[in-house]
Amino acid sequence: MTDQTTLAKPVSVDFAAPYKLSIAGKLIEANRTFDVLNPATNEVFAQAPEGSPEQLEEAIAAAKAAFPAWAALSWDERGAMIEAYADALEAHKDELITLLTLEQGKPRHSMAKGEVEAAIFWVREVAKRRLEREILEDTPDHVVEVDHTPLGVVGAITPWNFPVLLGLWKVAPCLVTGNTMVMKPSPYTPLCTLRFGEIAQQVFPAGVLNIVSGGNELGQQMTEHPDIAKISFTGSTATGKKVMASGSTNLKRITLELGGNDAAIVLADADWETIVPTLFWAAFGNSGQWCIASKRIYVHRSIHAQFVEAFVAFAKDKTVGNGMNESTDLGPIQNRMQYDKLRDLFADVKANGYKVPLGGTIDESLAGNFVPITVVDNPPENSRIVQEEPFGPILPIVAFDDVEEVIAKANASPFGLAGSVWGRDRDAAIAVARRLETGTVWVNEIHIHGIDIPFGGHKQSGMGVENGAEGLAEFTNTKTYMFHK
Ligand code: NAD
Repeated sequence: MTDQTTLAKPVSVDFAAPYKLSIAGKLIEANRTFDVLNPATNEVFAQAPEGSPEQLEEAIAAAKAAFPAWAALSWDERGAMIEAYADALEAHKDELITLLTLEQGKPRHSMAKGEVEAAIFWVREVAKRRLEREILEDTPDHVVEVDHTPLGVVGAITPWNFPVLLGLWKVAPCLVTGNTMVMKPSPYTPLCTLRFGEIAQQVFPAGVLNIVSGGNELGQQMTEHPDIAKISFTGSTATGKKVMASGSTNLKRITLELGGNDAAIVLADADWETIVPTLFWAAFGNSGQWCIASKRIYVHRSIHAQFVEAFVAFAKDKTVGNGMNESTDLGPIQNRMQYDKLRDLFADVKANGYKVPLGGTIDESLAGNFVPITVVDNPPENSRIVQEEPFGPILPIVAFDDVEEVIAKANASPFGLAGSVWGRDRDAAIAVARRLETGTVWVNEIHIHGIDIPFGGHKQSGMGVENGAEGLAEFTNTKTYMFHK
């Protein structure tokens, strides 16, 4: 294996070239292609290769063939190549940002830039992480050691809301721990993934990272495949259940990052005027298409009316539009399927006569999937808008009277992804946070993530974690050695 810390020549990928699959170190055409639409116009702007079942087989075989040599490298050798990959991604950062806006819709100057930059940072930092061998016991006659060994071929399946970040969140820990990968992006947003796959072919040995785009059935084929040792999946709870069922064929390791219905609890003593902008972005960033978006805000009744008024005042001049425009705050909904789900939810809000101090009507004459920023004031707890994950720019702000009541409401959900608590009395806020049944709880802050901070959902929001030492360990088998001295 050559030292690839410094690449022999700079990585160069032509972003104007046709998109191809990355299999066994080569860029491969598919027999068929499928349309990729710009959600701001609903015009087809690119063709993505539709990988066949046979091509997926080839990708899995390539990853399997590449595994022994990749796993045999030291952590430092793999880490150096992953850092070189971060450099190569960096060199194509601007093209990736533009492409992300074109295929996903999010504003180029803010969300798209933030996503690509965060993803590259993640790759660079995860490259430096290690799982050290642990000595549990070392006595005159006995030694117990715990080590972590790679699993083999990992299948990665990603959604359409953060295709770059969520994709690279899987690539970096998978490769640094010594596994190889086959990734299948969402058919709605395959392009950035195909390009970061192309970039990878100039950095890693053949077969270490393979990308196959195509329909949902490829995902199913991956979850059933006997040569895939683990599935790392981010997507909906409904699909997560299917992944788990079909992964049972060979007892795959499974990490599931699924849906959520995160509550933000604003206590009576909260500094509500200051937190309104933070909570606006927490709910409406990425047009609400975010697993950990604040999807229901519970505000103490004593401040509820003022909070709603201030929230609406802050929200009403934010612009929804084409993400390529500098003035756009929120882009379109990524695809028509999700847009139609939102139309249905908006119709339910209207039919029930809930109070809507902002937005509420989708202008269906627009070409793009634009949905207005919508606030629903104090709908009943059993309404669809409170109970369901909307995955769009519509938010219920619900009044509550006492802390026991709001904790019970926040927890009465099949989801348990994340939540937040806001209050000046820090101890009281933390006491509430401790009782929320979610994988992450923020107190007087929100949406902080870190390389070393585990992230995962409780209940039907997922299984296992990403990030942190625990997330890294999920790409390995625990192996215990015992030596008699
Ligand atoms: P989805 O479940 O429809 O699709 C996700 C991926 O699964 C896609 O690549 C799809 O092609 C693939 N797929 C579909 N059917 C499959 C099958 N039977 N077997 C294997 N793979 C299959 O999800 P989506 O609509 O793309 O994403 C939105 C959902 O993702 C939301 O519920 C959101 O909350 C969740 N999400 C969760 C997190 C998290 O970290 N917890 C992050 C982002 C999104």
